[in-house]
Amino acid sequence: MATTMNPEKARQQKRDWREKNRETVTECNRKYREANRAILRARARKYREENLDKVRAANRKWFEENPDKAKQCYRNYYRANQEAATEYQRNRRAANPQLAHARDRNYYEKNAAVISKRARKWRDEHPEESRAKDARGRHARRARERGVESERLNPLAVFVSDDYICQRCGLNVHQYKGPGWYRDRATIDHIIALANTNRGGDNTSNNRQTMCSMCNSEKGHGDDDPTRRPSAARAVRDKAARDRGELSRDIQMSDEAQAKRIRGRYRI
Ligand SMILES: [Zn+2]
Repeated sequence: MATTMNPEKARQQKRDWREKNRETVTECNRKYREANRAILRARARKYREENLDKVRAANRKWFEENPDKAKQCYRNYYRANQEAATEYQRNRRAANPQLAHARDRNYYEKNAAVISKRARKWRDEHPEESRAKDARGRHARRARERGVESERLNPLAVFVSDDYICQRCGLNVHQYKGPGWYRDRATIDHIIALANTNRGGDNTSNNRQTMCSMCNSEKGHGDDDPTRRPSAARAVRDKAARDRGELSRDIQMSDEAQAKRIRGRYRI
């Protein structure tokens, strides 16, 4: 009779039975969990709320003891909740930017070799985006130094919205991989120069436009003055040359020619 059985013996019997019928037990448990998911969740949540410190300590201990499994857990969670996770991280950074910077620095110092290798690979594979990123960083820095408003905007978006046409001379412009001077390289121009902060030269989308290399260096540090743009004839001539395929990489200027041009003694 169960009622008269030694309780320790009864427990042992149950354990043995479970051990022998492990699959049945697992299946039963699974079915039970499925049928009572809401109740079990609520119960778990309640327990968690009531024993937060204990639960957190237990979690931390488990994560420390099972680093590989923990990593996989994090990964699965991020994959399933990408937006929420990003939002959480953003909030966390905003709450304590100094700590976030310290953490970043620490991470970069520890993984410098891997990071620079990865960055180089990305740059090789994405030449246009990488140049665009450089320009974006440069402009943001100059705006910051001058204390004017700066908007985070992808230069590619500026080029696309201007149809890859220089807004000063009307030349079709292109993006080139690597350094070097190309007459028709797409660059970002600030309509009111960043140097002219008193006249509203800021780094916002309203103040940005596409320009070819030539126009941008001719314009120098001044504003884009519509009354002082090159003649339409030059734009037409350039466009015709470009259509003949002459105005591209093939006429890349030598360093010397470039220096001459910058000194104002060279004209195309
Ligand atoms: Zn131009």
